[in-house]
Amino acid sequence: MAALLSYWEHQTFLRDYDVVIVRAGLVGLTAALHTRRLRPTARVLVLERDVLPNGASTKNAGFACFGSISELLEQEARGGTARLLRVVQARWEGLAELRCLVPDEVLQYQPVGWYELFRPGEAALAARCRAAVPYYNKLLGPIIGRDEVFRDATSLLPKLGFQGVDAMLENVAEGALNTGQMMDALLRQAWKEGVTVLHGCPALALESGPATVCVQTPLGPLEAAQVLLATNAFSQQFFPELDLQPGRGQVLVTKPIAGLNLPGTFHYDKGYYYFRQVDNRILLGGGRNLDFAAEATTEPGLTPLVQQHLEQLLREVILPGRSVRIDYRWSGVMAFGAELEPLVEALAPGVFGALRCNGMGVALGAGVGKRVAELMAG
Ligand SMILES: Cc1cc2nc3c(=O)[nH]c(=O)nc-3n(C[C@H](O)[C@H](O)[C@H](O)COP(=O)(O)OP(=O)(O)OC[C@H]3O[C@@H](n4cnc5c(N)ncnc54)[C@H](O)[C@@H]3O)c2cc1C
Repeated sequence: MAALLSYWEHQTFLRDYDVVIVRAGLVGLTAALHTRRLRPTARVLVLERDVLPNGASTKNAGFACFGSISELLEQEARGGTARLLRVVQARWEGLAELRCLVPDEVLQYQPVGWYELFRPGEAALAARCRAAVPYYNKLLGPIIGRDEVFRDATSLLPKLGFQGVDAMLENVAEGALNTGQMMDALLRQAWKEGVTVLHGCPALALESGPATVCVQTPLGPLEAAQVLLATNAFSQQFFPELDLQPGRGQVLVTKPIAGLNLPGTFHYDKGYYYFRQVDNRILLGGGRNLDFAAEATTEPGLTPLVQQHLEQLLREVILPGRSVRIDYRWSGVMAFGAELEPLVEALAPGVFGALRCNGMGVALGAGVGKRVAELMAG
């Protein structure tokens, strides 16, 4: 492919760059925008491997979330209070950053709240979470800017018509957005602000030199002063030692359902399942916990085990007694690690990484992109 490139292609697209960003996802595009804003003369190129990428940014559920009580309890036990606060703040500020880059009307942002559902067998967990409401309201209130972030919403359950759900807690500060519109807007904005984005052009290898980094691509080698890896779960291709574990998420969307009215975004089974209304359909995803080993992959794919479980949940819990058919099914890949926080750091001379949003990149991604752009700008 490289041998047959035109003079124009060489001059326009393949000149040396100040910054090459590997991957046009949420993190890569926001990092590109912030790089141009911090360094208006910087030549910035984004390389995206796929036409429509196979990672997470266009595959996610569009929950603008920073944590349910059961997640906060688990994460606080794992990392301590100070770390939990840091990561909640990063999620909250990341959402604000995203909403600043892309207006709410374009994101189709809906401040509908986030509900955590508890099954009859989870009475003890529900009681623990309910008891923790005042504690987390006090702890998170100063970050979120309201006294009441969480509250008991069990009294709303009869209206929602779920089956086998005994208790419900609400996070009033969360919402939902349109993932496709978000990524479309970021791509358009990147081009508008002088970023070049090449799709179908993977970075094949990186070689750090004394002054520049050479990025091998199917179009030939490119020299850049700095390279940013925003390849999330796919980054071990370049740095195998990174603390990254891929986690595939499977999702389905039903055919339109007459009279559907499900305001809010919902979490079930400690967040392993999530659903919301999208237009007049239900989007439902999750089930990684059914077979963690099989879902720890960067390969796209659907499994009968997870898909059947999702359909069962739909028919038995979410829309009991209604006949629903499935219109769309897909998978996407997240990156998890032992640490709660995303990884934002220099990985080699001239090479930076902004990776591992732990399945909360809609919230964290734009903030991570901004942070790494600042780091690279020194
Ligand atoms: C099913 C699902 C549901 C989710 N729901 C939510 C949610 O509701 N709320 C939330 O906050 N987060 C959610 N997430 C997580 C969120 O989408 C991610 O954290 C976020 O999109 C990560 O963005 P990213 O830019 O870091 O990476 P990604 O978008 O994952 O980008 C990785 C990409 O790198 C590209 N790539 C890989 N190798 C190369 C290469 N060599 N050269 C060029 N490009 C390469 C690939 O095309 C791949 O797409 C969900 C994720 C999934 C999968």
